[in-house]
Amino acid sequence: MTVKIRNEIVKTDFLIVGGGIAGLQAAIAAGEKGIDVVVAEKADTRRSGCGANGNDHFACYIPECHGDDFDLVLRQVNMTMDGGPWQDPSMMKLWLSRSYEVVQKWESIGINMRPTGKWNFEGHSVPGNQRYHLKFDGKNQKSALTQAAIANGARIMNKTVVNEILTGDDGRVVGAIAVDISQDAPEMVIIQTKSILIAAGAASRLYPGITPAYMFNDAGCPANTGAGQAMAYRAGARLANLEMAGGHAGPRYFARGGKGTWIGLTSDIHGKCITPYQDKPSRQNGDIASDIWPGSYRDRMRDGTGPSYMNCTETTDEDLDYMLHEAMVSEGIDSLTDQLDQRNISLRDSMIEFGSYNIGLSTQGIDIDIHAMSSIPGLYAAGNVVGNVKGNVSGAAIIGMVAGEHAAEYVKTVDEVSVEAHPLVAEKQALYTRLMEGGKGAHWKEAASTLQNIMNDYAGLYVRSESLLTAGLTYLRQLKAEALDSLGAENAHELMRTLEILDLIDIGEPLFLMALNRRETRASHKRSDYTYTNMLLNDKFQTIEKHGDEVVLDYRARW
Ligand SMILES: Cc1cc2nc3c(=O)[nH]c(=O)nc-3n(C[C@H](O)[C@H](O)[C@H](O)COP(=O)(O)OP(=O)(O)OC[C@H]3O[C@@H](n4cnc5c(N)ncnc54)[C@H](O)[C@@H]3O)c2cc1C
Repeated sequence: MTVKIRNEIVKTDFLIVGGGIAGLQAAIAAGEKGIDVVVAEKADTRRSGCGANGNDHFACYIPECHGDDFDLVLRQVNMTMDGGPWQDPSMMKLWLSRSYEVVQKWESIGINMRPTGKWNFEGHSVPGNQRYHLKFDGKNQKSALTQAAIANGARIMNKTVVNEILTGDDGRVVGAIAVDISQDAPEMVIIQTKSILIAAGAASRLYPGITPAYMFNDAGCPANTGAGQAMAYRAGARLANLEMAGGHAGPRYFARGGKGTWIGLTSDIHGKCITPYQDKPSRQNGDIASDIWPGSYRDRMRDGTGPSYMNCTETTDEDLDYMLHEAMVSEGIDSLTDQLDQRNISLRDSMIEFGSYNIGLSTQGIDIDIHAMSSIPGLYAAGNVVGNVKGNVSGAAIIGMVAGEHAAEYVKTVDEVSVEAHPLVAEKQALYTRLMEGGKGAHWKEAASTLQNIMNDYAGLYVRSESLLTAGLTYLRQLKAEALDSLGAENAHELMRTLEILDLIDIGEPLFLMALNRRETRASHKRSDYTYTNMLLNDKFQTIEKHGDEVVLDYRARW
């Protein structure tokens, strides 16, 4: 059965790929500037992505709370999980300097940014420093942002998976290929556009999760599968820092994000605090240990000093009640509270074992400039898909806004180009048709599990070396050839899952190449054949880009 192409080409000034936090904020900003906007979202923007059920910490700089010394603010935020060496200082300055604007916008569209009635900063904080993580109630954030985007004129196409970026003869963006998965039979959708924002989130499921048999038990959104990074790479965009894939931490085996919401102390099996940051549970600061060193739980399991626990036995009744019945609800992780209730577990008496998990790419990815544009003219990126700026929900919203504003200017400078006869249309139609005809009957899960094994065993977080990485890269390339030859899908949903795996394989390859090329040990990249840290690379990002069959690896200075 040939996969059909929708008769009508969708035409717009600005296509947004992914209606998560970054995508919706970009739609609002671009709509305000009066350009035509389409948001293509794989799920439903009212409840999709990492912020689907809510978020509760918004890193920001509010001058009336933090004072006028912006340099101090930058230094202090840099010590939290939203800082660190893996973002360009100018990009960090950009998101922080415009963060208050977005806080006010969110408040104006009905997101409760002051549940206590005043600006209240809690959690993810370094003791002794000012606090920057605004404690808000984000449980309605996705529906509020969706309404605001629609009110500003955005057309939202839910159940639409974008799979390819189209560039024209002059190298700039001209369109995209998507698949409508709302019915049993998939339908190809061709989009003609002058500019695109990739806001498709992180790359989960590249490595095995904490419960490999339950692939979707993931602290991040398991539907974010590196599509943005993969499409951008295939189209020739520059990516940064893929080899520095990292992870998250939280209740072991019950993978829920939101570690900053816990009010307790990271402790050993005897209940003794094992970090130097706090000696008493603090609602104001949280426990920054899991932000600074999320791999510690895994490391302690490996060296035998584990397990490690979140110990709330000394948290006050008032704080416990607040954490379980307010904070976790705002963050959309109150399934944890339900689980504790159903099992009659009281945090007053029991510590909860924490684990390190969710290894993948989040803020390792597309390299963007101060306007959020990638190295391809007209192709923007924002949020967790980006490789050189962080900030989580706040960074995603602000960089999304910057992208929307700039795209509104950019589209005035370029003409529309017809994409009907673009060569990738026929190529992709042939691929989708082959997959829907059943291939050789292999299921996407077979490829998914093989991919995760290869990533974990040959490009894992414990040890890497030339021989391991070379072997792994060979296996990955064999997997790609085998997957293209043998995978099949029975319906639109399975086609989406299959395309996710092909995307993940496509970003696995540059990750391997970058890991091979980084001949040193740094953070989670541990080379047994280059055990030292090369200080010449201290202030540098590694980049990769592909032009046809040629792959260019480089190191660039942070800016
Ligand atoms: C439980 C939890 C709690 C968190 N709490 C906080 C917090 O309190 N504070 C904080 O700062 N951060 C928090 N985070 C992180 C925060 O949610 C993310 O940093 C933020 O959502 C990133 O925004 P984004 O737009 O990049 O991606 P997302 O919001 O994840 O959106 C990506 C969107 O892209 C869509 N998509 C993916 N692939 C495609 C495709 N091929 N085509 C079309 N659409 C596609 C997805 O369906 C999704 O809607 C939390 C994360 C989790 C999981």
